[in-house]
Order: sequence, then structure tokens, then C-alpha cells
Amino acid sequence: MLEFDTLIIGSGLAGLALALKLAEHQKVGIITKRSLLDGASSWAQGGIAAVLSSHDSIATHMQDTLIAGVGLCDEAATRYVVEHGKASIDWLIKQGVPFTKDTSTDSGYHLTREGGHSERRIVHAADHTGQSVQETLVWRVLQHANITVLEKHISVDLITGRKLGLRDNRCHGVYALNSLSDEVITIAAQNTVLATGGTGKVYLYTTNPDTSTGDGIAMAWRAGCRVANMEFVQFHPTCLYHPHAKSFLISEAVRGEGGILKLPDGTRFMPWHDARAELAPRDVVARAIDFEMKKRGLDCVYLDISHQSVEFLQEHFPTIYARCLSLGINISKEAIPVVPAAHYTCGGVMADLSARTDVENLYAIGETAYSGLHGANRLASNSLLECLVFADAAAQDILGKPRKTKCALPAWDESRVTDADEQIVISHNWAELRHFMWDYVGIVRTDKRLERARHRIQLLQDEIQEYYANFHISSDLLELRNLVTNAELIVRSALTRKESRGLHYSKDHPETLPNPAPTILVPDTAY
Ligand SMILES: Cc1cc2nc3c(=O)[nH]c(=O)nc-3n(C[C@H](O)[C@H](O)[C@H](O)COP(=O)(O)OP(=O)(O)OC[C@H]3O[C@@H](n4cnc5c(N)ncnc54)[C@H](O)[C@@H]3O)c2cc1C
Repeated sequence: MLEFDTLIIGSGLAGLALALKLAEHQKVGIITKRSLLDGASSWAQGGIAAVLSSHDSIATHMQDTLIAGVGLCDEAATRYVVEHGKASIDWLIKQGVPFTKDTSTDSGYHLTREGGHSERRIVHAADHTGQSVQETLVWRVLQHANITVLEKHISVDLITGRKLGLRDNRCHGVYALNSLSDEVITIAAQNTVLATGGTGKVYLYTTNPDTSTGDGIAMAWRAGCRVANMEFVQFHPTCLYHPHAKSFLISEAVRGEGGILKLPDGTRFMPWHDARAELAPRDVVARAIDFEMKKRGLDCVYLDISHQSVEFLQEHFPTIYARCLSLGINISKEAIPVVPAAHYTCGGVMADLSARTDVENLYAIGETAYSGLHGANRLASNSLLECLVFADAAAQDILGKPRKTKCALPAWDESRVTDADEQIVISHNWAELRHFMWDYVGIVRTDKRLERARHRIQLLQDEIQEYYANFHISSDLLELRNLVTNAELIVRSALTRKESRGLHYSKDHPETLPNPAPTILVPDTAY
């Protein structure tokens, strides 16, 4: 059995930032199911929103966030995040993140503008912000004597007082599968932190990496935590459409720098849908593309930035320029083929301003959490900021509280299971789930389609539970089991919301109702 003061599950920006903030004071463990660099954070291109310019203000950033969230942002959480923006960026700069500089601005950094932002406030490292941030923090984590990293370890389930037959509502640690040795280890911790990212892989088309299977949300739900706003899945409007480009995103900043969306015949269509045209929020742009594609039977639409010079494109979008060129698309001469794809999970495990969940000593930060910041729609580039702000909040809470007594944790019991006979059950169910979630629970929803999805989810859950109970676990099985739980939570939330708001659009309930409220699901196992 391993033991840490704090165990962090996940090595994205949220997990790494928290580890570094705690490690001066205590022993920290990080488990991550692939390598340290795998996760959505490394893939972020655009940047991080924060009030850094004297032309900008806390009030304007808050206002933009609240408008994007269509009445569902928690104002206290929004203020908290926005007010901590500058300190979060300063911390990253201190860690050594090489943000793109611009000596002509009063911040000293080049700030870009994205859809829904009324000011230039996105600090970035060219178009590979996430990669630069992650590489910098990973390097620091690996130097730190107080941080132990276990790669290729996937969490199985949280060990709660209830599971141990105790009367407490505490999290005591986690079971984790070493996917190289196939052994399940027990990890005890005073504090356990879910920093496992979102659940984009529940959909057929997604911009997310393979790690985004909603494991933290599913584990927290099983452990008795409330989960909120799962119906609000953000679809990124512009994912590269090419048979050899898996999940490659064309950053929102391309539209911010003048990119125009066009039909195959070259006609610009966004002004027909919204006065803000290409700079409208993501949900509006994604729905407009979905509408044009379905109406005209198109495989994709086109994003044209070819009016910019090669030098400009290479300086501002080196990754996109190079990736497209490697696939035979010269973006300085031709438009980029794009489709919408599942991009961001606005809902998640309910967490307060200190990142505490409903289970004592269990925290949730980053995309896994529902902090109240995003409401019915996330404003671009607010999510990396949220990771940093709540990593800091969790660190303060963890470091400020007394230690609790330890209790003995039992080893994982494998005495009643055998080797799986048919792996095909997992791959088949995985493909089926992602297909019907795309078809029935996508950008435009109806009650009938949601009911169809609910029925299929129930069948899959029964099959997967039987498989889980009888066979040795594998990471594929664990992820599938978690994805199906996430699918259930998304569908249940979508059926609960009898209106259209932000990212949730229902043909049966097209109106937006007065008195908005978050969708809060309470598990049967709630304490
Ligand atoms: C292509 C793309 C571009 C984006 N661009 C931007 C942007 O420009 N600005 C912005 O603000 N946001 C952007 N986002 C969103 C942002 O990247 C994410 O919201 C953010 O990185 C989430 O960070 P995280 O630490 O919560 O999760 P992640 O970075 O996804 O990290 C999750 C970690 O948990 C691990 N993990 C998951 N489950 C388990 C388990 N069961 N056991 C062990 N480990 C586990 C994963 O392996 C990974 O290490 C983008 C997202 C994508 C996909």
C-alpha cells in the first residue's frame, strides 16, 4: 500500500499546478493513466483568459463570462475566478512558461481576442500554449523531491468510509490499476483530488484526447457526490475535417484574427445566423455549421484565413499552419475544411469555492468539476484559468486543515473474478455508445432521441456491470464503465431541462425560460 498526504488523480494543468503548490509542505502523489503529458491541457492552443491589460477590467471579463453562461453562471464563482486571473498568470510566468511577448502593450505580452470576449485578454505561447505550460510544469514536478509520479496508473474507485463499513463520509484513498503489470494497488491519502478532465470521448467526434473519459465524474457519482449541469457539452465549431487528422482543432483565435466561415461554393454564411458573425460564441457558431451541413447534406464547411500573409500565419499559428501543410492544405492559399466536435464538459462534480466536494477530504478541480463558472456555456479560454484558480483554492484549503486519523484499508479483492473471455464486448459497446450519443444527444436534441439514448444506455450498463463483476478489470473496461455513467448523467440532465439554453438546444423546448437554475443530480448513494 502506498500512502501520501495528498493524492492527485490526473496530470493535466489542474493536477500539476496543485501538486507544485502543495509539495513545499507535504508528500504528494500523482497518478496518471498514461504519461504525464497526456491530457487535454497539452492540446490547448488558444491560451488563457485573464485581465492583464489596462484597457480591460474585472467587470468586463465577468460580464463576458456571464453573458456566455446565459444566466447560469454562479456569480460568486465567476468573480472569484476572474479576480484571481492575474495572480494565476503571474504564477505560471514564475514557473517559466514562455508566453508570447509584445513590448508595445502595457502588459508586455501579446494578448489575443476570442469569440465572446469584448477585449483582447488571452495570453498565449504562440498556438501551443497548453504544450508550453505542461512541459514547464512537468519539468518542475519531476525535479521535486516531495512529488511521486505513477504513470500508467488508472484509478478504479474511491475508497470511502461507506465502502469500508464506517460511519464517516470521508474519502480515504483510491484503488488504482497499474496497466503495465495489471495489478490493482491501494493508495491511502489524507486528501484525494479528482483532476481527471472532461468526458469528450463519450461522443463519436471530439477534439479531446483519449484520456477524456469522465473517470473522475463517474467515480465521484458512485461515491455519493452530486453532479451538476451535465447537459451542457460544448461542441467546438471548427475541428479539422480530414481522414488522417484525428481530433485536430482549429483554434478559435483563427476566427479572432479574421478567419471567415464559408460554404463549399465560397459563400459566407455566419451573418445569416448572428450579427456577431464569426465572433459569435461557440454554441451559436457550432449550431449554425450543424444547420448548414444538415440542410445541404455537407460533410464539412470551410474556414478561410488565406487573406493573411504566410509570415503572419507562421508567427501566430505555427502548429495549425504546419499540421495543415503536412496534410496538403496550404492555409495561406486555401480554406480549411472543418466540422464541429465535442470539446468541453461544462458540468461535473459539484465543488465549492475551495474545490471541496460532498465527500469529506475529496476535492474536484479543472474540467472534472462543476464550479459554477461556466453556466450554460463556457467562454473560450476560461477553462485553463479555472484549473489554475481552483488548484490554488484547493491547496489553501488542504494546507489549512488539521490531519485526520488514518484507518486500515483493505487490498483489492480479485478472488471472485476470472480472465475475460471476449474483449469484443468492450470495443463493440464503446463504439455503439459513441455513435448513439452523437446521433441522439448531439448539438440539437429532442425528447424522443434522448429517450432512445436512455434506453440504450440502460442495456449497456447492465452488460458492462455483469462483465465488471465477473472478469479481471482492464483500463478499457474501466473507461467504458465510466463513459456509460457519464452518458447517463448527460441524458438525465438533458431530459430534466425543459427549455433551450446555451449549449443545450431542444427542438421540443426551443424557448428559454425565466428563473434559470442549474441541473443538480443527486446519487442514490448520497450520504
Ligand atoms: C484541443 C483542445 C484545445 C483547447 N484549447 C483551450 C484553450 O486554448 N484555452 C482554454 O482555456 N482551454 C482550452 N481547452 C480546454 C482545456 O484544455 C481543458 O479544459 C483543460 O486542459 C482541462 O485540464 P484538466 O487538468 O482539468 O484535465 P486534463 O488536462 O484533461 O488532464 C486530465 C488528466 O487526468 C488523467 N486521468 C483521467 N482519468 C484518469 C484516471 N482514471 N486515473 C488516472 N489518471 C486519469 C489524464 O490522463 C490526464 O493526465 C482545450 C481543449 C482541447 C481538447
